[in-house]
Parts: sequence; structure tokens; C-alpha cells
Amino acid sequence: MHARHCAYQIASKQIFDFTHYNYCFHSKMTNLVQPKRLAAFDFDNTVVFGNTDTVVRELVTPEVPPNVQELVKTEGWTRYMEEIFRLLHEKKITREKILERIRCIREVPGFVRLLKSLHQANFDLIIISDSNSEFIREWTQAHNISNIFTQIFTNPAQFLDNGLLTIKPYHHQTECKLSAENLCKGKILENFIATREVDDFIKYENVVYVGDGTNDICPVMRLSENDVGCARKGYGMKRILEKNKTKLTAKSKLIYWNNGFDLHEQLQEHFKYGDLPDQRFESPTCPV
Ligand SMILES: [Mg+2]
Ligand SMILES: [Zn+2]
Repeated sequence: MHARHCAYQIASKQIFDFTHYNYCFHSKMTNLVQPKRLAAFDFDNTVVFGNTDTVVRELVTPEVPPNVQELVKTEGWTRYMEEIFRLLHEKKITREKILERIRCIREVPGFVRLLKSLHQANFDLIIISDSNSEFIREWTQAHNISNIFTQIFTNPAQFLDNGLLTIKPYHHQTECKLSAENLCKGKILENFIATREVDDFIKYENVVYVGDGTNDICPVMRLSENDVGCARKGYGMKRILEKNKTKLTAKSKLIYWNNGFDLHEQLQEHFKYGDLPDQRFESPTCPV
């Protein structure tokens, strides 16, 4: 792919351009010297201990009205959350209150250190999540890990000046039946890998995908023999994979995990990289 890309560029110029040739050659050499690996993560119940949307939904009291509940079935999760955010705004729940709830969700034990150790081991890290950009930014910034991700793929959200949180679907797709219309994580993962190769001359030797939910099955089905799919014990992804072994067969190695510590041990054993960083991170200040 890399060579073809360079050849195409050279051919399209109609002349042999030494500068470009050197550039291609150089980046190819760099690739050889520094093989890259990719680790892709779900967010809710994978990185954070809980679900960002449901934690925020609890601020709607006394309860979510039935006509809003209905939206999950009729119009999908993102449309439902849009309505939840509208209710929060109506009930004068402030931006700060919402973001405090997000910051104060615990990590899945050991996860921040796991992410840091993979980053130190030269893995590129991405998040692919059905939460939203505001929540993921808030949590990763509060835990000092926002700068270790190459990219974050999620539903775009934004607080308006009047304090209303707005959210849009990440995309609209109907080809993949394993995924919701607003988010096919497999397609996002494949597109990211292809884009890195064409734009940045980075070809990943191995890809790790870590998740817990049924929407994490699609990306794992698209992994190759060199890759590792990681399903959390006790959650939907593992349950469905085990139930449908003949229909949902992964080419990749599959491992099952409980928390950041045992996941680290299994990945370290497989890829032979360094230990967990020693330092503890400072938790954000939260109400008791
Ligand atoms: Mg999840
Ligand atoms: Zn899909």
C-alpha cells in the first residue's frame, strides 16, 4: 500500500522527483525501525466504571417521562440522550453539575495506568465510543490522559451558551447490521487504519480492540490473525460471542478481562512490553 501510494504520487507528477522519492524512502525506513501497534478502546464500562450517559441521566428527577423513554426504541439512543439533555436544561441542571458527575466516575481499576503503559510502549491509542465528545474530553482531561490519544471517535456534543448540551450522531449507516445506525465501530476502526497508512505512512503490525458491550463485537469481527480482541468478563460482548461461536468467529486471538490489571498482564504476556507505571494518578476532587 505504501509503495503503491508513493508510485502513484510520482507517476502523477510525470517526472521523477527525487525529493519525493527520498521522503517516501525515509518514511518507509522509519516504519521499519519503529513498528507501530494500535490499541482501540471503548469508553463506558471499559475505561470508566459505569456509563457516562446513565450517570448523567440520574440527574433527571424524579424520573424520565414515558414519552422520552420510548425514544430509545423508536429513534435510537442518541436521540434519547438529546432529549435527556433538554430535560436537564429545563430543570436548570448546570453545565458544571453535569461535568462534575462525569469527572467523578471512577476508572475501571488499573485502567489509567494500563493506558499510560501502552502509550509508553509505543502503541497508538484511540477511543471509539457511543458516549459523546464533551463527556470523554472532561473525563480524560480530569485524569491527565487526554494527550495520549491519537484520536477520539464519538458522537459530537457541545454546550450552547445558554447551558443546553446538544448532541449529534457520529454518522448514519445502514450497511452494518451488527451496529447501530449512528455508530459502526468496525467501520470507524477500518477507516482509521486505512487513513493512517495513506496519510501518515503508518501500517499497524498489530491491533488490539478492548470493549465490553454488544456494539464492540463488530470491530473485533474485522480484526486479523495478528490482532487481539479483548472482551470484558460479565458483560454483553463476551456473552454474545460465546453464544454465537459459529456465526461470530473472530480471526484474532480473543482474551477475556476483568480490569486494567489483569488486562495488562495478558497484553504484556502477548506483546512483551514494559511494566505498569508506578505512579498513582491524582483523582479529581469530588463531593463525598
Ligand atoms: Mg462499553
Ligand atoms: Zn458495524
